[in-house]
Amino acid sequence: MSDVLVIGAGPAGLSLAAALGQRGLKVAGLTATDPAKPWPNTYGIWADELEALGMSEFLGHRWQNTVAHMGQGPLPLRRDYGLIDREKLQGHWLSQSQGHGIVWHHGKVAGVSHSSRRSEVTDKSGKTYSARLVIDASGHNPALVKRPVVTKPIAYQAAYGIVGRFSAPPISPGQMVLMDYRDDYLPAPERALPPTFLYAMDLGDDVYFIEETSLAHAPAIGFDTLERRLHQRLAHRGVTVTDTFHTERCLFPMNMPIPDLNQSVVGFGGAASMVHPATGYMLGAMLRRGPDLARAIALALEAPNTSPEQVAQTAWQALWPVERLRKHYLYTFGLENLMAFDTRNLQQFLTAFFELDKPQWSGFLADTMALPEIVQAMLGLFGQTSNSVRWGLMSSVVSHGNLLRRTLTP
Ligand SMILES: Cc1cc2nc3c(=O)[nH]c(=O)nc-3n(C[C@H](O)[C@H](O)[C@H](O)COP(=O)(O)OP(=O)(O)OC[C@H]3O[C@@H](n4cnc5c(N)ncnc54)[C@H](O)[C@@H]3O)c2cc1C
Repeated sequence: MSDVLVIGAGPAGLSLAAALGQRGLKVAGLTATDPAKPWPNTYGIWADELEALGMSEFLGHRWQNTVAHMGQGPLPLRRDYGLIDREKLQGHWLSQSQGHGIVWHHGKVAGVSHSSRRSEVTDKSGKTYSARLVIDASGHNPALVKRPVVTKPIAYQAAYGIVGRFSAPPISPGQMVLMDYRDDYLPAPERALPPTFLYAMDLGDDVYFIEETSLAHAPAIGFDTLERRLHQRLAHRGVTVTDTFHTERCLFPMNMPIPDLNQSVVGFGGAASMVHPATGYMLGAMLRRGPDLARAIALALEAPNTSPEQVAQTAWQALWPVERLRKHYLYTFGLENLMAFDTRNLQQFLTAFFELDKPQWSGFLADTMALPEIVQAMLGLFGQTSNSVRWGLMSSVVSHGNLLRRTLTP
């Protein structure tokens, strides 16, 4: 029997397994896909988030020239952005796993049962795996973690991207465009439809990654719409794709409910609803929160007779303390505002957002500020933005007041 069984070998599973191994725990892994299979997703992150963790070496690309376009000329962000070197990070965690003697079993989880001393996971072939605690890191639609039933449609981030060469640079050479919300390329009737933006970067050697992205929409914006808009946007600037090396279709939920925090299986990553509801980013939060979670689990397992339920309780509290829950509901309120805005209001809101002090907007994006600091930043934004955005925000207080109430009593 192991101390902890980790399900899933995406970034969440691999990182947490390594952190638990580092704590001296006996860890086993169970995953549906080979843990060494290259991750399919392109992961972007602000460079200072990795620096703060001493992990800058895992940036495969780094841009100093980072901008947003909100219709009034480029808005310089003055903050370095990077792409994760997926192969290197995955290899790092796998070799750490190996160093800690972690064996990754291959299998798809079918179910779990709990007794007072252990949990037992069964895979689809009928094989069983026992552990004192089970961590479910199997992604946004988890194998075991249970969430409350959702009563309203889930909002999805969706994107269609191309890595390729183009007849002319699709963005300024050397640049990284976090968000280009200009909609001048769309015929007038379509401008009223749900806004999407261009996320793009120069990868060097005349290769660019360009992605048309819907920040969040319920139901998800279709890939066909995103692909069409990406080509319309290029055509409007007189650019065509000459070589396609890779296409990315990105789809994940933004506002999945927080899991039931009393269950005996603990989630991590997408399975624990750790995606920032207002941005879609998760990797930084995962890297920051994993070691604390591993420490809490190791402490809880020190007592020999603790039940899976007791260890899980401690772990869930470490992952989702009340203060973090409060902020989560405030971010979810923010998401509802963003989804309600048309392009003009979005442009004005985001311009005011990126004109806040950098520690404020970066702290909001990374979820590293305390709740009062976030409220202060939001009040500052309210004071600086247009009347139309202010009106939208005030209307949202009425229509989504339940989320603000949960910020007070989660
Ligand atoms: C295309 C795309 C791009 C993204 N870009 C970014 C980004 O730039 N920055 C960022 O911060 N976030 C990004 N995200 C959001 C988020 O960080 C990712 O979704 C991330 O991959 C989630 O990690 P995870 O380990 O929780 O789940 P996953 O990466 O989905 O990994 C799940 C693992 O569980 C295994 N598994 C699944 N079901 C079972 C089962 N029943 N039994 C056993 N094993 C199972 C899978 O094989 C896999 O190994 C992106 C998401 C997508 C889809």
